[in-house]
Amino acid sequence: MKIKTHHKSEKFERIKTARHRTNLRSASLTISNPRFGNTNGHDNHDAAVIKAYAAQSATAALGPFAIRRRDVGVHDVQIEILYCGVCHSDLHMVRNEWHQTVYPCVPGHEIVGRVTGVGREVKKFKEGDLAGVGCMVDSCRTCSSCQQGFEQYCEHDPVQTYNSEDTHLGGVTYGGYSKSIVVDEAFVLRVSDKLNLAAVAPLLCAGITTYSPLRRWKVGKGQKVGIVGLGGLGHMAVKFARSFGAHVVLFTTSPEKGADAIRLGAHEVVVSKDQGEMNKHLNSFDFILDAVSAEHDINAYLNLLKLDGTLTLVGLPQKPLGIAAFNLIGRRRQFAGSMIGGIAETQEMLDYCAAHGIVSDVEVISIAQVNEAYERMLKGQVKYRFVIDMESL
Ligand code: NAP
Ligand code: ZN
Ligand code: ZN
Repeated sequence: MKIKTHHKSEKFERIKTARHRTNLRSASLTISNPRFGNTNGHDNHDAAVIKAYAAQSATAALGPFAIRRRDVGVHDVQIEILYCGVCHSDLHMVRNEWHQTVYPCVPGHEIVGRVTGVGREVKKFKEGDLAGVGCMVDSCRTCSSCQQGFEQYCEHDPVQTYNSEDTHLGGVTYGGYSKSIVVDEAFVLRVSDKLNLAAVAPLLCAGITTYSPLRRWKVGKGQKVGIVGLGGLGHMAVKFARSFGAHVVLFTTSPEKGADAIRLGAHEVVVSKDQGEMNKHLNSFDFILDAVSAEHDINAYLNLLKLDGTLTLVGLPQKPLGIAAFNLIGRRRQFAGSMIGGIAETQEMLDYCAAHGIVSDVEVISIAQVNEAYERMLKGQVKYRFVIDMESL
């Protein structure tokens, strides 16, 4: 299969244009990153061609595609991908809902697999080990955020696992819907062999994205905590909040998910369309985590916070959310956001999960089912994360 490449400057122009169209800071290219001065630092002819699944446009279904992976550098870990989770961000990105996607796009940032090669300076991994890769594959490592272990908030933007500039081969990075990946060991996570590997994959995004804010806002015993939306992120948030000792209330638009929510660890379930039920919880929450992927009324949840309570957004709906000022100022409420987690915290989360037997509830699919899986995810028909068995690619 022929590999499609774009002229780099043309790609930069396209990305820059896309960035003008969006105020979303997250993924995309980082032209200002000093590390990017050395694009193509590796010889392209060293690259291996491997199988992947890609979207060629915002409206095309994902299909087979060949990509290149760089040769293993001295600090690199080469991983044969065994499982990759399907995050709603993959769908947002594939369909260009954030106006920044570079095509062809190979999504996937919930990656687990086996190490098949290591560079001579690699300390943490050896061939045969299990390993994970999440949403980032590099960052500047020198800015104040990176120095504090907050690589996800790198002042030059982290290099995302897909749809960022590939500083080694040129073009953009390609994600985990593929046979293998080569990543600097600083961005590779250790994975326990005690847990079901397919069910570990979603921890690399859904897990850390919910663990990090629950820790940051010190969720624990004696607190009343709300989780909004029982999807991939939401079901992990319920598990963590319960494990940390909080009283957990799950808000859902899907009454049929109630029994699952209780099984996953919620103490109470509220169907958010039922105003009477919502009113019973007015002014009572210490903390609410909102993991909803689509437009919804955020004010309905701000009103449930008590004095000094915090609502933290992790969901990334395409359109802006409207906030009524009185809902914030009335009880000195706080409205915050949170993006994935740093590498050290991701390792902490994986170790916590291994120690407490926490994994994601997954439905394992073949790569050929991924387009159907996207449609089912949009309809809320996933319990509670699709994970692709990469053997099928
Ligand atoms: P998901 O599995 O599709 O779950 C989203 C849930 O939101 C659904 O299960 C549903 O829960 C609820 N929902 C969907 N449409 C809704 C609507 N119109 N009104 C109200 N509720 C609705 O998605 P996910 O993978 O968990 O991702 C959730 C969001 O987080 C996405 O936007 C994703 O891009 C974002 N994300 C952010 C980060 C970060 O770093 N901040 C990381 C990963 C993902 P109920 O059926 O229970 O209502
Ligand atoms: Zn994700
Ligand atoms: Zn940085």
